[in-house]
Order: sequence, then structure tokens, then C-alpha cells
Amino acid sequence: MNLCKELERLDKEREELVKKVDTARSRLKFKCACGKMHSIQSCDVVQTHWYTAPHGCTGGDYWNEGELQIVCPDTAIRNRVMFDSYFQVQWQLRNDYAYNLEHQFSRKYKDLFKSVIDEHDNDRCAGGKYASFNNYYFEKKKEKFGLKIKSDGYEK
Ligand SMILES: [Zn+2]
Repeated sequence: MNLCKELERLDKEREELVKKVDTARSRLKFKCACGKMHSIQSCDVVQTHWYTAPHGCTGGDYWNEGELQIVCPDTAIRNRVMFDSYFQVQWQLRNDYAYNLEHQFSRKYKDLFKSVIDEHDNDRCAGGKYASFNNYYFEKKKEKFGLKIKSDGYEK
């Protein structure tokens, strides 16, 4: 059946396109705390985790994924990837992918960094131990990075 062949061809085409998009994304540059522009692929990123203690009779403890911190390749300063638009979104929607730039950034870019370092820390703001910088570049340049809040999400 020709339709199956066509579908196979489209799947392959899609796969190649995804690869191209990822390559282009990995080359995008951001302004680092050090003042220089670095590409995504030239930096390591730290995935922070924070701890939820056991609760009640049955609730076990577990780790939650926290913020991403991009490590400057020159100075080792950590760029905390921050989005303040979170607070402009209606609170009921804040954790939905379509309304959450942090989730979108993580899904689209995390695996494109040079490496991902998983870090577990009881301190919710684990950045405190390291020189860090609240970096809002990705919020300011959200169009460049293909991040978008669905238009009906903003607080009226
Ligand atoms: Zn830097």
C-alpha cells in the first residue's frame, strides 16, 4: 500500500527536521552573568532537585525537579534560569505546559546542553552555595527561544 510508504517517508522527514531544529537551538546564544554570549551547547547545565519530607501515614519522601542553572564555562558562575512572567499568569494555569515558560524551556533545551548535572539538595534554593546570578535573558528573549504563553493565560 502506497499510503504506508508515504507515512514512513513523512516519519523520516519529521525525524530529520527535529534534528535540524535541535541543532539550531543548541547554537542559540544567551547573555551570561559574565557579560559574554555563550551558546547552549557550550555550557553545562545543573538540574536542581529539592526534597519533600515524608508526611502523614502513607506519604513517602521524594525529590522534585527544581530550576535549571547554566554554568558559565569561563567563570563557573551559575545562571539561574528565571521567568517572572509566571506571576502574570492566572494561578490555576501556572503549572500547565502551555502557560509555563520554565517547563517549555526545560523540555526544549535541557538535553541540548553540553551535559546535564543532576544535583540533589535539601535547600530549595540550592544556588546559595555557589556564586549565582538570576538570569532573565530567556524571559526577555522568549520569541528567540520559541517560548510562548498561551494568550488566554494572562491575569486580567
Ligand atoms: Zn559566562
